[in-house]
Amino acid sequence: MQKNTTPTVKDLVLVGGGHSHVTVLKKFGMKPLAGVRLTLVCKDVMTPYSGMLPGLIAGHYTFEETHIDLGPLARFAGARFYHDTAIGLDLANKRILCRNRPPVTYDLVSIDIGSAPRTIEVPGAAEHVVPVKPIDQFVVQWDELRKRVITRREKTRIGVVGGGAGGVEILLAIQYRLGQLLIGEGRSTDNLEFHLFTDTTEILPTHNPRVRGRFQRVLRERGIKIHTGHRVTKVEPGQLYCENGVQKALHEILWVTWAGAAGWVADTGLDVDGPGFIQVNDYLQSTSHPEVFAAGDIATMVNHPRPKAGVFAVRQGPPLAANLRRALLDRPLKSFKPQKQFLSLISTGDKYAVASRSQWAMAGARIWRWKDWIDRRFMAKYRDLPEMTEKADTDLPQGLAGQEALKEISALAMRCGGCGAKVGSSLLNRALNRLQPIERQDVIVGLHAPDDAAVVAVPAGKVMVHTVDYFRAIVDDPYLFGKIAANHSLSDIFAMGAEAQTALAIATLPYGLESKVEDTLTQLLCGALEVLAEADTALAGGHTSEGAELALGFAVNGLVEAEDVLRKGGMQPGDRLILTKALGTGTLFAADMRHKAKGPWIIEAMDSMLQSNRQGAQCLHRYRATACTDVTGFGLLGHLIEMTKSAGVDAELDLNRIPLLEGALESITAGITSSLQPQNVRLRRAIHNLEEVADDVRYPLLFDPQTSGGLLASVPADQTDACVAELRKLNYRHTAIIGTVKPRGEQMEPVTVLR
Ligand SMILES: Cc1cc2nc3c(=O)[nH]c(=O)nc-3n(C[C@H](O)[C@H](O)[C@H](O)COP(=O)(O)OP(=O)(O)OC[C@H]3O[C@@H](n4cnc5c(N)ncnc54)[C@H](O)[C@@H]3O)c2cc1C
Repeated sequence: MQKNTTPTVKDLVLVGGGHSHVTVLKKFGMKPLAGVRLTLVCKDVMTPYSGMLPGLIAGHYTFEETHIDLGPLARFAGARFYHDTAIGLDLANKRILCRNRPPVTYDLVSIDIGSAPRTIEVPGAAEHVVPVKPIDQFVVQWDELRKRVITRREKTRIGVVGGGAGGVEILLAIQYRLGQLLIGEGRSTDNLEFHLFTDTTEILPTHNPRVRGRFQRVLRERGIKIHTGHRVTKVEPGQLYCENGVQKALHEILWVTWAGAAGWVADTGLDVDGPGFIQVNDYLQSTSHPEVFAAGDIATMVNHPRPKAGVFAVRQGPPLAANLRRALLDRPLKSFKPQKQFLSLISTGDKYAVASRSQWAMAGARIWRWKDWIDRRFMAKYRDLPEMTEKADTDLPQGLAGQEALKEISALAMRCGGCGAKVGSSLLNRALNRLQPIERQDVIVGLHAPDDAAVVAVPAGKVMVHTVDYFRAIVDDPYLFGKIAANHSLSDIFAMGAEAQTALAIATLPYGLESKVEDTLTQLLCGALEVLAEADTALAGGHTSEGAELALGFAVNGLVEAEDVLRKGGMQPGDRLILTKALGTGTLFAADMRHKAKGPWIIEAMDSMLQSNRQGAQCLHRYRATACTDVTGFGLLGHLIEMTKSAGVDAELDLNRIPLLEGALESITAGITSSLQPQNVRLRRAIHNLEEVADDVRYPLLFDPQTSGGLLASVPADQTDACVAELRKLNYRHTAIIGTVKPRGEQMEPVTVLR
């Protein structure tokens, strides 16, 4: 969770993690602006660097070498990272509409989402070609294409549509890689046939004749058939049709033509050009809406139109960052004029490249090495982030807040606390009115009829199960934090074999302008209510106050038949121990705070925390689990000891079988642990063979505190295989049998760890 001691005055939201926005993030990280809350909305965690894409395809680079990890970069920038796809813009209410979450409000928004394929204009293309844009999807499709081609034993004809630098470069990279793979298997490359289609009269029409000449020679020497003046007008499965009547049967068709804009952009009401790109002025600011900026492929500079190329997106990064800062501070913007001539380094797949600028050209392996050096240096800027030792300024910079906001902020500073730091009721009501908590017949007095307390009916024959949980936000996204907190709190009920009935919320919201606090509360409750609704649980009331940090908890009650209560102490010797989720959230989020966690690790950990334990508990119950608990703050060992102690049994844990989240081992091996870990480690004395296992790299993870962790249950041995199979079918994909329950032995320590 990013610590922010200055109240948020303005929200700057970056949509897309393209080549310009990575610079904006880095620049804001180097020089944060107090009072500005930065949010990145991006559909990918790993954003591709286009310059190295042909090298990735040719097999010279790994996926990680060619992608910028937006997770640590956003952390460095002090930005909240919302992993989602923008699908619209509500300009009137200044909100970004997202596919999987509530709208994100902004004061200033910047859009750098790249371009989309223009397959829609050619019938059949959308269904039957592999578009190279967007690049992230192409990377996945390329893997599949490669497998298809390699497994084919007959002749394979591959066509690339698009004769610009992108098309030529991709084709040569593909040819090189597929050839290498076949040679590696001792097969001939004669079965591969390549075609390049372009509607222009020459390939590489925007480059000089010397560059064109070089590439014509390379393509000829490599046996690639060039079809210039062939406009593709229709695509059918395995068949390509051209305007001049030519038809070609092809097994694979790649689409590298001019890119278009995502369809939703034109629907926003922003000024756009013919293909739907956002029109911006010399400040990279929308010509129609001054609070919207855009850069990279998605933007068209009306006074300086340029080709859609990564080099321009990169160059726009610094002026965009400077103008966003100026706009936030209400200062005059500075104009930017992109260069006319630019250097292109176009590779031929085999570690050879051609340099092209204006009328100049040069080719050779040396040019490829030069390109490689430039590209690696660029990537290192976003991977090797500096440690920030300087303390960030906490004073509001001049110009950020208007008169009204300044008045509100000084009132904030003078808050007396006599109200118990309670959040104003109108704010709370407005937030609740925007949401729709589910209602239940058995809630007699609840949110629908507010009173001093909620009144809930308990059906005859059932007993009530109570639990409470409350914790500080471990993620910067209030919507996801709301979901995780609700999930975590419900788990205790499910672990007892009960179904949840009602919940009371207790929330602490960071001080701030009323509009910002309201937005945070709405997002927080929206996430929580979605999870509660899924569990058929009514929110019956709560308490919301202001404080230094965002925190949320729930008191939940549930109902169960008395004889169905699943206690910790029911374990029987011979039972197997089942764990339904992988371990590692403690160390991973500690690593995330230190900018040491990879983005994909955090996404996986988050998915795990968002998964409800409800179905898992029901399944364990069906397979006659004798005891169950949810693994949370005390870590796996702490919770297991609670179980063995109350059941009067011993347990054997197998380290080799304990499922771990991606990155957990790497993070714990780097010595990164949660602040709760030292307390949990005290329980090591419960391990009988401590000396034998304490040096195992996985050992510290036994103590790793979990947030919204999985269920740990003991299940009769004859039920476990079927139970595990069903749990996996229910999407608890990490479920594993991690040990055995043993009769109480002579030794003091109840747990033996196998390695
Ligand atoms: C094969 C190939 C090779 C190329 N080689 C070169 C080259 O050598 N040199 C060069 O200058 N150019 C090259 N280009 C062109 C280059 O890829 C683009 O011009 C460049 O990627 C544009 O950068 P961008 O910042 O606009 O967007 P992108 O780099 O495409 O980034 C867009 C970002 O936005 C995110 N995003 C997209 N949609 C959404 C959404 N709706 N919501 C949230 N996030 C979203 C994506 O995940 C991504 O992070 C090449 C293109 C191709 C196809």
